[in-house]
Amino acid sequence: LKTLELAELAQSLTHMQVAIHERELRVLALAEKDVLTGVYNRVGFLRRVESLLSQQRPMTAILINIDRFQQINDTLGHPFGDQVLIAFADQLVQLLAAVPDAVLARFGGDEFAALVPMDQPDWAGLVDRMQHQFELPLQVTERQLDVRATVGIAHCPLHAKNAVDLMCCADEAMYIAKEERIGCRVYNPERQRFRTEHLSLLGELKAALASDQLMLYFQPKVCLQPSKNQDQPVLHQAEALIRWQHPERGFIPPSEFIPFAEQTSDIRDLTRWVIAEGCMNAAKLGEQGHAVRVSVNISVRDLLDGQFYLYVRECLAEANVPPSRLCLEITESGAMEEAPAVLDNLNQLKQMGVAMAIDDYGTGYSSLSYVRQLPVSELKIDQSFIKHMIDSPNDMMIVHSTIELAHSLGFSVVAEGVETQQISQLLVDFGCDWSQGYFYARPLPFADYATWLA
Ligand code: C2E
Ligand code: CA
Ligand code: CA
Repeated sequence: LKTLELAELAQSLTHMQVAIHERELRVLALAEKDVLTGVYNRVGFLRRVESLLSQQRPMTAILINIDRFQQINDTLGHPFGDQVLIAFADQLVQLLAAVPDAVLARFGGDEFAALVPMDQPDWAGLVDRMQHQFELPLQVTERQLDVRATVGIAHCPLHAKNAVDLMCCADEAMYIAKEERIGCRVYNPERQRFRTEHLSLLGELKAALASDQLMLYFQPKVCLQPSKNQDQPVLHQAEALIRWQHPERGFIPPSEFIPFAEQTSDIRDLTRWVIAEGCMNAAKLGEQGHAVRVSVNISVRDLLDGQFYLYVRECLAEANVPPSRLCLEITESGAMEEAPAVLDNLNQLKQMGVAMAIDDYGTGYSSLSYVRQLPVSELKIDQSFIKHMIDSPNDMMIVHSTIELAHSLGFSVVAEGVETQQISQLLVDFGCDWSQGYFYARPLPFADYATWLA
């Protein structure tokens, strides 16, 4: 009997071991899957990618980010947003079904990643099919929805030799594609080198602020509806744009240091300098008999500093200019609603009487319905829409309807990047309030701007 019992015990122990092992495998598989869509998650994906890469096979990583997903969530609700993600994932599963050894994952949020072998079938054809598919409406439950996406591509071993680096390269390519508003970009190592140079430049910015290497140029914002604006507090506006004259490198355009400064807290010192200088110049113009509202560019990172509005107040008092002579241009950004300090600063500034504008409107992710909740008075339509107005009926319609909608919500509208008489006239016809661009004047040194005004 004893022997029989022992044998049974041994057997059930073995069963138990097998069951535990199976459950472990299931848990492990779950840990590697995205619960919402059933495709791999980041952990699972990177694991698969590492094992494929170890086979020395050339691979292509494709990073896919849904455009304006935030807007879908905001307007249609999170549960519907989830359905969109599921439908989008299904669409990718189908696209990749014919590709042997392809791996698909959702990296959380609205970001998907695919890894495909470079040899079969060609990756470029696959990306073409993807982009074509993204142009078509997506069926989500009973609705048809326009869901566009931007793609970043990197190759292994050409661009990176491990999974993490490979995805970083694809990520960078995707961001550049978003910035340029083109659907797809392949990683470009040249740009990376460019970036390293820029970081070294950033190190020199502090010294530049302390010496006299930085200056402000002024570009007029021209009033397009003088009769309508007669009762406004200001009849002239100008945007202050920073210029850096480096003792060795010569002139450095803002695009080569601002975006990098904005990644760090260096931007705060720069913004403080610009605001103080802008207020002083507004005061000088006032003394010369010109009531000019000077716009300066600030970044969301400035607004994360709870004391920011106090600094602005100090600068205005120091220069003895009324707050209505200052306008702060802020690029729309999702970060605005996340940090309480941002809204707090904006409200305080509005109460003080400082004007505020949303810059580069149309390139970010916020909708008008979101922007209307912010205490801003002006909307600047991004130059990419203005520039193509004549040859793109779509852009023309966007500009026209944005002006009308913005007006109905109480915003004043500025068009940026106006380069021709024809566009200027169209904007007048559309009822746009202010206009800025090379057609009227390029950014000018202070003295030249004062002359231009006179
Ligand atoms: P932004 O705020 O959108 O400024 C407008 C840019 O468009 C300026 O470039 C201006 O020179 C250029 N622009 C104006 N009219 C036209 C036109 O008709 N055609 C074309 N092609 N371009 C036109 P800029 O001065 O190179 O500045 C680039 C960006 O750098 C600015 O874009 C802004 O985001 C940033 N920036 C400039 N100064 C400052 C600053 O003091 N602080 C911060 N945070 N950012 C700044
Ligand atoms: Ca601006
Ligand atoms: Ca702008």
